[in-house]
Amino acid sequence: ASQFGMKEALEKLGIKTINEGTSTGINNFSSGEILESYSPVDGKLIASVKMSTAQDYEKAIQTAAEAFKTFRLIPAPQRGEIVRQFGEKLRQNKEALGKLVSYEMGKSLQEGFGEVQEMIDICDFAVGLSRQLHGLTMHSERPGHRMYEQYHPLGIVGIISAFNFPVAVWSWNTALAWISGDVCVWKPSEKTPLCGIACQNIIAQVIKENNLPEGISCLINGDYKIGELMTADTRIPLVSATGSTRMGKIVAQKVAGRLGKSLLELGGNNAIIVTPDADIKMTVIGAVFGAVGTAGQRCTSTRRLIIHESIYDKVKDALVAAYKQLRIGNPLDENNHVGPLIDVHAVEMYADALNKVVAEGGKILVEGGVLSGEGYESGCYVKPAIAEAENSFEIVQHETFAPVLYLLKYSGEVDNAIEIQNGVAQGLSSAIMTNNLREAERFLSVTGSDCGIANVNIGTSGAEIGGAFGGEKETGGGRESGSDAWKIYMRRQTNTINYTTNLPLAQGIKFDL
Ligand code: NAD
Repeated sequence: ASQFGMKEALEKLGIKTINEGTSTGINNFSSGEILESYSPVDGKLIASVKMSTAQDYEKAIQTAAEAFKTFRLIPAPQRGEIVRQFGEKLRQNKEALGKLVSYEMGKSLQEGFGEVQEMIDICDFAVGLSRQLHGLTMHSERPGHRMYEQYHPLGIVGIISAFNFPVAVWSWNTALAWISGDVCVWKPSEKTPLCGIACQNIIAQVIKENNLPEGISCLINGDYKIGELMTADTRIPLVSATGSTRMGKIVAQKVAGRLGKSLLELGGNNAIIVTPDADIKMTVIGAVFGAVGTAGQRCTSTRRLIIHESIYDKVKDALVAAYKQLRIGNPLDENNHVGPLIDVHAVEMYADALNKVVAEGGKILVEGGVLSGEGYESGCYVKPAIAEAENSFEIVQHETFAPVLYLLKYSGEVDNAIEIQNGVAQGLSSAIMTNNLREAERFLSVTGSDCGIANVNIGTSGAEIGGAFGGEKETGGGRESGSDAWKIYMRRQTNTINYTTNLPLAQGIKFDL
C-alpha cells in the first residue's frame, strides 16, 4: 500500500503507523486493551488503538453531558456554521480519508472518495437545514390563544456504526444531530477503528478552533460490549445503530426497555425486477454494479434479480458475459472492479452461502471461489458468483454480505414479481427495470414494493443524501440523512399561549370557582 501514499495519508489524519505505537486521537476515550486493525487489502497490520473501558465510557458520557449544557444554547444557524467548517475540513482531507477508508475497509478508492463526498454533501445539507428546523403553527380553538410547535435538542446521541460505511454513516448522524443542538458519542465498528480516529481528529480541530467544548463529539472504541453500555444508558435519549438485523433486534429491545428512542438501519435483501419491457443494457450495468460493487458489502447491494421468463435467458447470458470482464484485486488500484471482503470470517460466510444454495437445489451459473497467490495474500478476495435459485430457499431469504447474486424467474404479470420481491423479511431497497408506465406505477403503488427505497430504471445500490434513507420490516424502520429525517434528533413540544385575562378551558369545559 505504500505505493498509494498510505503513509502520508495516515500522517495527515493523525494516525500512527504500527511502528510508531498506539494511535490515540483527540478526545478518544480509550485506555484498555489493544485492538489491532489489519487491512483486508494486503493482510498487513496498519495500526493499533486501545479499547474503551467502563471507566473510559463513563468519562465520555460525562464529557458529552457537560458539553450539551452549553452547546444547546448556541443558536441553530451558528451550529450550522460549525458544521460548515467541518465540511471544509473534510474537503481538505478528502484524499487522505478516502484512501484510509479504501485501505482499512477494502472498498475501491473511488468508493472511498465517494463516501467522503457523501460526508461533505450531508454537511452542506445540514448547514441549510440549520435555518429550517421548522415547527408548525396551528389555530387554537380558544379565543386569544396562540398555538405552535417547536423543536428542542435531545441531548446525547449514541452512534453505533457498521464496518462497510465506516465514515459516512457517522456524519449522516452527526451533521444533523449537531445542527439540532445534540452532542454525539460514537462507537465505530471494531473492524474499522482507524476510520473512527481519523474522523474524530478532523472534527476535534474544528471544535478547538471555535473554542467549543470538546464533548460535542466523543469517540469510544470496542466491540458489542461497549455498545451495550450505550443501549442500557438512560443518559442517551437516542441510539442510532447501523448494522445487522441480529444486532438491531438486541439493540431495539434494550433501548425500548428503558423507553429510549432508537434509529435502526439494518440489513437488506434487495431485488431488481426485470420485466419484458426492460432496457437490457441498463439492467446489466445496474445489476452488476449493484451485486459486485463494494464486493457486495453494501446494505443496498443487489442480492436478487427477478426476471420475466420471456427474457430470462437473454439477461442471464448478458450477466454471465459481463462477470467474465470483472477484474478482482487491490481496490486502491483503479483498474480493478472488485476488492476484498472485510475479513476471513466474511469469506467463510460467502463460501457457506454458495454451498447452501447448491444443497437447496440451486444451480451455479458463475462459479465462486477464494483467490490465492500474489496480490491475494490477505485471503479476503473472492470471485463474484451467480446462482439460479428459488425465493423460498433459506439462503436466499438471508442477507449474505458478499458478492453472491441469485437469479429468480417469474411468469405472467408484474404483480407476480412484486410478490416475490416483497417475499423476504427485509425491506430496504428495491428496483424495477421497465419502460412500461403501467408496470412502473404498479411497482410504486400501495400494492407495490414494500421497501423504504423503490427505484425505477436505477439499481438498488446507493442513494443520494437528499432523500430519507432507510427501510421497513427487519431493516428496522429508521430514516437517516435527507428530507425530514432531522426530526428524530430533536424533541417536539406543543406550546399554547393565552394572551387574554380569562382562562377558557379546551373543549368548552366549565370549571367555575
Ligand atoms: P454488525 O451488526 O456485526 O455490527 C454493527 C455494529 O453494531 C458494530 O459497531 C458492533 O460492534 C455493534 N454491535 C453488535 N452487537 C451489538 C450489541 N448487542 N449492542 C450494541 N452494539 C452492538 O454489522 P457489520 O458486520 O458491521 O455490518 C454489516 C451489516 O450492516 C449488514 O447487515 C448491512 O446490511 C448493515 N448495514 C445497514 C445499513 C443501513 O443503512 N440499513 C448501512 C450499512 C450497513
